[in-house]
This record gives sequence, structure tokens and C-alpha cells, in this order.
Amino acid sequence: MIKPWKSIPLAGLVLATSIASCGGSDRPATATPEVHAYCGDDYVAIERRIDRLLASLSLAEKLPLVLGEFPPPDGLNWRAPGLPDEGIPPFLMIDGPRGVSRIAGNATAFPVAMARGATFDPELEYRVGEAIARETRAVGRNVLLGPTMNVLRHPRWGRAQETYGEDPYHIGAMALGFIEGAQTQVPVTAKHFAVNSIENTRHTVNVTVDERTLREIYLPHFRRAVQEGHVAGVMSAYNSVNGSFCSENMHLLHDILKGEWAYPGFVVSDWGGTEANTPSVNHSANAANAGLDLEMFVEKIYGAGLADAIASGATTEAALDQMIRRQFRARLCHHLDTNPPVVDPTQLETAAHRALALEVAEKSIVLLRNQASTLPIARAAGVDIVVTGPLADVENIGDSGSSSVTPSNVVTALEGILGNAGTATVTTLDHEPTTAPDQATITNADFVIVVAGLTTANEGEGDIGSGDRTSLDLSASDVQWINAVAALSSHVIVVIEGGSAITLGSVLPNVEAALFAWYPGVEGGTALAHVIFGDVNPSGRLPIAFPAAEADLPVFDNVSTEVSYGYFHGYRHLDHMGTTPLFPFGFGLSYTTFSYANLVVESASLPATGTVRVSVDVTNAGARAGRETVQLYVGTPTSAVAERFVRELRAVKQVELAPGATQTVTLEVPVEGLAYWNVAANAFEVEPTTYRIEVGSSSRDLPLTTNVTVAP
Ligand code: BGC
Repeated sequence: MIKPWKSIPLAGLVLATSIASCGGSDRPATATPEVHAYCGDDYVAIERRIDRLLASLSLAEKLPLVLGEFPPPDGLNWRAPGLPDEGIPPFLMIDGPRGVSRIAGNATAFPVAMARGATFDPELEYRVGEAIARETRAVGRNVLLGPTMNVLRHPRWGRAQETYGEDPYHIGAMALGFIEGAQTQVPVTAKHFAVNSIENTRHTVNVTVDERTLREIYLPHFRRAVQEGHVAGVMSAYNSVNGSFCSENMHLLHDILKGEWAYPGFVVSDWGGTEANTPSVNHSANAANAGLDLEMFVEKIYGAGLADAIASGATTEAALDQMIRRQFRARLCHHLDTNPPVVDPTQLETAAHRALALEVAEKSIVLLRNQASTLPIARAAGVDIVVTGPLADVENIGDSGSSSVTPSNVVTALEGILGNAGTATVTTLDHEPTTAPDQATITNADFVIVVAGLTTANEGEGDIGSGDRTSLDLSASDVQWINAVAALSSHVIVVIEGGSAITLGSVLPNVEAALFAWYPGVEGGTALAHVIFGDVNPSGRLPIAFPAAEADLPVFDNVSTEVSYGYFHGYRHLDHMGTTPLFPFGFGLSYTTFSYANLVVESASLPATGTVRVSVDVTNAGARAGRETVQLYVGTPTSAVAERFVRELRAVKQVELAPGATQTVTLEVPVEGLAYWNVAANAFEVEPTTYRIEVGSSSRDLPLTTNVTVAP
């Protein structure tokens, strides 16, 4: 089982040296400790089998093995060839991050990853990964293309909803949950490596990013996926980083991923990811030498280009052997030969998966505002509820790009409220943006629920979806409708849907309560109703900061082909600039309140290899049972290093507390996890200095503070 919020020591490599001893003296050179950890105890036999296969194949037989087959002979997208006569199955890949892609028919649509990020619950994410992977097998596919685990650098990114948030520590914990759960069923590919956070220029943009920012912000979670999650595959991103396409980026693929991290799995290009590369021997050789092991989904630079590159000496047949080895290793180590997927419609959209989608949605909804305890609403006779807004009765489950899922049934917000209102009366008010809402309907209601926000028309994947958002604001018509309703009622609850931060300043002060529901999956409407009527006490936390205005964030440039990323983004940027967010990272209200007391640090002075261990007493000070997400942030106020973050999330613990109950919560941070990237040393280092430890319920509500000092 996963160790969800364990802090990865950034400084030291996590190698499985202790399990490398078996295998005999004639162990193949490729049977390394990392392969053992990736593969399990069959690793030596598997490496020998691959050796024999490679020795039996001619160059002409090898070349097609690193290229997707399109259209696939069996009609099943997406396919990479196997060697049927040798018992090597093809890769049969399918997206995706919130459920099995629509290209395979109906499947369970879970809340999007950003919603799941808001649960701050990697163990729940383990169950989601496992469920999606079971459905992957049930549609006859043997590789799951997910999780998407890019850092949300800016909330206008069109695919924001596909990832878990903005913080690499949090993303790492959530992605690890998904990977470990999913890989009980099928191998998965973590994507998109790396620095992929713009849609409209995704094929052409070159992101310049300094080494420290790369190491501290854009890579640590991928490293966890590789070294702790033993992820089977990594998908390279479309974009370039520091002047080189990710599919042929020596530094990312060769030096870091396969070199420093000793990753034994395969690298697959994003689909047509090499299309921006003018096919040329140079690109073929660069990709082969950097470590792209499979070009999907059609031939651009491998095939004939790779044959030419080998003939010219720009790359070697040995490099091609490595590509095939890594792919075959994934297939055999994950037993795709002996335990192939079986098409089984009874395993799709099961009651258990629907129940899981409901649980996740319930835990993902974030209560942003609740003046005078407007929520929850009592479902009693005589209570009149009006439901209105453009998304009230819309099946709004997310992007229509590659992550798109088509479930056979979705509970809309209105359906959920109608089905859970008990003896309360629910009426609907059509949303007609050009006319004023009917005054009597609004004024006679005890509560007015307005459902608004974003849809796939506003944000999504580039090329096949809507691409990046044009604004962080709610649409003018949403603002107008909400404010028109709010002018007539002092009991307005807004429910906002969308994939990332929305600047809500023009409506929030006018409404009593606000819930952020993300794209909540097949049971979203039920989950929403359970929160509104108080069956569920909301516990979702924002996995991204909501700025008051877009100008408060670094610039989002989705037009230029050259962009530069600095050290600060999201809450790190807002803290650095001293800007107050609309809602901070980690924020979310509850129907109860929690109080914090008695921070005790086990040792205030630590050696460089120690563990910061603090305990705090968390009390449910209200009248309802609730779930609190205890967050620990670390800062370095006296650092001698030029730039440090004001604070960074470094530990999380969740507790369920009955009314009045107190629990002592212990949070741990390995000192190695406090490291920064020292550019001069080209390594992570722990600075001997004083570290400020802050504990509380969001990045801006940290009532308990202490200092620990790390000795030189
Ligand atoms: C997306 C990937 C996806 C692939 C296959 C690409 O356009 O960027 O995330 O896995 O298509 O559908």
C-alpha cells in the first residue's frame, strides 16, 4: 500500500540496491536493481528472454517495433506492434485521466483529476486508478495513458482539469496513488514529460526554464512516479524545453530520467509528438540517442528516418535494441503475455465504480463561502428551493479532448437536487441571460441555487478541444445572471463548475454561499445535493490558489513560440509578491470548525539526515462531524540562498473528527526533503539554516509556527 504523503528525499536517489543480489553470476548486465524494482522477481529471466529475442531479429524486423501501427489491424486504437510468434503482445493503449476514453464506448466518468486533487487523498486516488485500470482491461486494452501530472503553472491552461494541481509535492502524492492503484491491473504512462502547461502552442512552443526551477518545480513529482511508483511508461511532451523537443531532449530523457533517476521503463512520444520536427536524419538520431523508445501514433521520424540515421552512423542499432528492450520489459514485467486483458462489459460502469465516483465527488467539492451558515439546507416541508443557471441541468463532466469519457448516464446538478430534496419543494427557473429573472419566483423562494461556470466550450485540449481559456473570469452572462438573482434574494447559493481557478470577485460578495464543484463525474449532481442538504460535510481543499485577478499571477503567454518560466508560480508567486489571493492554496470551509493547539517539535535541532517531526492537537470545535486536512509548510526566512519560497507544502495528514473530539496529529518531513537545487554544485543540497515550520488548514491559515535548525 502507498505511503501517500511521504516526502520524497530530493537529495538522494532511491535505489533498490538491497534487492539486487539474486540472479546468479551470469546475470545480464541489464538486470539492474532498478529493473528488479520495476519488474519483480522474474526480472533476470525476462532480461534473458529479451536478449534472445533481440539476437534473433534482423534490423528490418526491429525497425517497425518502435513505431505505432495506424490504422491498427484490429481497429483498436492505439496500438504498437508485438511479436505474436514469439509470444510478445502488442501494446493496446487507451486514455485516460478521468476514465476510459470514449473511443472504447461507455465507461465510468470519474471527477476530473483536479477535483481528485481537491480531495488531498492519495489513498482514494489509488482506488480511482485501480477502477479506471479495471475498465481499461474490460475494453481489451493493456496500457492506460495517464495520469496527467503536469504542474498547473497558470489556471488558463486548457488541460488544467487533467492534472492534480499546482504543487509538485501534492501532485506527486496524488499521482503516486493513481499509478500504484492502476498498475495492479495494467501498466500506465505518466504524462507529459515535461513542462507541458500551454495548449494553444503545444506543438511549437519552446519553454526556457532554469535548472533550479526545473528540478524543484517541474520534475520532483515525475521522479516520485519513476522511483517510488515504478511507473511503466513515461510520455514525452509535445513542447520543447530549453531549445530541444521533449521527444529528443538529451537533458530530460537521457541525463535525468534514464541517467540520474535510473528509469528502466519506456518513453513514448505524445501522439504525433514528433510532427513539429521536420522529418530528418538529425531528428531521428536525436530522439534515438536521447531515449525515445516508441513513436506514436504514426511514422514521422522513426521507420525510414531511423533506418537512415543508423545507416549514416548518427545513431546505432544498439540504441534501437535498447528501445525494444524497454518496451518488451514493460510488457513482460506486467505479464501482458500471460495475463492479457479480456473484453468484459460487465466490468464497465459497475455499481462499485459509480459509488466510488460519488465518494470522490463528495470529497472534492470545496465550500468557498458560507455566510450565516446558509448551508446546509434543511430538506423539510415548506422549504422552497429554486434551481437556475446555465449549467443547472447540463451533463458537465469535462473536456472533449483525449481525456473525454462518455458514460451512459450522468446525474446533473438539478437531477441530484430533485432526487435528494425530501419534502422540500424544488422549482426550476429557466436561465435566459437576456431577460431579468422572474421576480416573484426568486423572492418567494427560501433558497436560490445558481449553477454556472465553465464547460468544454471554454477549456480543453488543443487541436481536439477548446484549448486554453481566454480569461480567468466568469463569463459576463454568468455574472449578470448571478447578480440579477442576488439582487432579488438574500439566500443565493452559487455552484461553480470548471477545471481550475476562476476569479469570482464580481459575484461572491453578493451571494451567501459558494461551492466549487469542478467537473464532478457521473454522480456529480448527487454529490452536490448531499453537500447542499448536509448529508456530507464538505472537505475539499483547493489544490491551486485562486487569485483575485489574473494580473496577480505570472503572465500566461499562449501565443509566442518562445516563453520563459521563472521560479515562482501559483501560491509561491502570491506569497513572494505579498499578494492576497481570492482563496489560498489548500483552502476549503466545512460545516464545522477546527482549532489547532499544542505544536510540539520532537527536536528543534537536527542533523542533515534527520526527520522533522511535529505533533499538533486538532479539535473539531463545531457541532458536526468533519474531515480536516492538516497542512505543514516549510519556509527559510534566514536562508543565505538568493531566492527561496516563503513557504512550501511539505506534509499533509487528514483526520475525521466527531464534534468536540481532539486528535493529536503527527507530521513528518525528512530533512533531505528540505533540499534546494544548488546550481553551482549541480545537486540538491540541504542548507544548514533555520527552517520555519507552519501548520494549519491552508497556506494562508497557519496558526501554529515553530523553528527547527539543521546543523552543517
Ligand atoms: C494527448 C495525450 C494523449 C494522446 C492519445 C495526445 O494528443 O496530448 O495526452 O494521451 O493524444 O490520445
